Amino acid sequence: MQNLSNIGVIRELLSRHGFSFSKQLGQNFLVNPSVCPRMAEFSHAGPQVGMIEIGPGIGVLTRELSARAKKVVAIELDERLFPLLKETLGDCPNIKLIHADAMKVDFSALIREEFGGEEGQSPPRVALAANLPYYITSPLIMRLLESRLPLEALTVMVQKEAAGRLCAEPGTRAAGAVSLAVRYYSEPEILFGVSRGSFLPAPSVDSAVIRLSIRREPPISVHSEKALFSLIRAAFSQRRKTLGNALCSGLQREKSFILQQMAACGIAENARAESLSLSQFGALADALQSGEEDRN
Ligand code: SAM
Repeated sequence: MQNLSNIGVIRELLSRHGFSFSKQLGQNFLVNPSVCPRMAEFSHAGPQVGMIEIGPGIGVLTRELSARAKKVVAIELDERLFPLLKETLGDCPNIKLIHADAMKVDFSALIREEFGGEEGQSPPRVALAANLPYYITSPLIMRLLESRLPLEALTVMVQKEAAGRLCAEPGTRAAGAVSLAVRYYSEPEILFGVSRGSFLPAPSVDSAVIRLSIRREPPISVHSEKALFSLIRAAFSQRRKTLGNALCSGLQREKSFILQQMAACGIAENARAESLSLSQFGALADALQSGEEDRN
């Protein structure tokens, strides 16, 4: 078995296959041997658990997942990597490689087909792990969360700044629309940092591994999720403005109506989006909707 974290082994493999990195596809391969075993340990991979990986590259994380999990399904967009993956993972019978764009994959169907679960048996346990290409980090995470897939956790490496945003506590300065959405669907945590020197080629920023443990039920209940997320997006679309002003233009409602509903929820007139908790956003979304219905 080749040591896929050894930079000499990787260079030899890549050059033998005439492979050149694509910046466009976010190809920065891990060459720090301590990272993938740690990620795999945190990822829920186990004898009863199936794993999905996005972007296996040359298979360094895939091997670690395969050693722990029941089965690994790895989705890779770059066709040029398949001959390399055949060589590096050919001895792991529990790995299935799929050539596809993770942004277009129907994950519900994939989970059903690949991890199935027999009729009358308990549903299959499935989790996801990935060193994500930076250009799809937030859209892919949001797509996975919003699809309400039967996944236990997403353990993903992302740029350090993105980790801070995704895992920010609502009510703090770092929080944004994406932090609130992530909290709604999951319990996020930053697991550990990874320096830029851990990759080949080295990117210009550091990374971090985060884990989003998927909630079975959202932490708040609202009349309409659509209205909640429209409100959150509008609130953060003009962060420098007060919440009242941001919502006035973002939701195209009169300011007096917005302020009235904010007051009914105990939110100060000069509050800003970043100071609100998820429950306050939930209460305000419901109040705005009921207030609107009362007026009609
Ligand atoms: N897992 C490997 C590692 O840790 O060394 C490679 C990680 S590299 C940051 C990202 C990988 O995702 C690359 O292999 C790249 O080709 C692949 N990729 C990029 N865009 C993708 C997409 N839309 N769908 C699936 N894979 C993608």
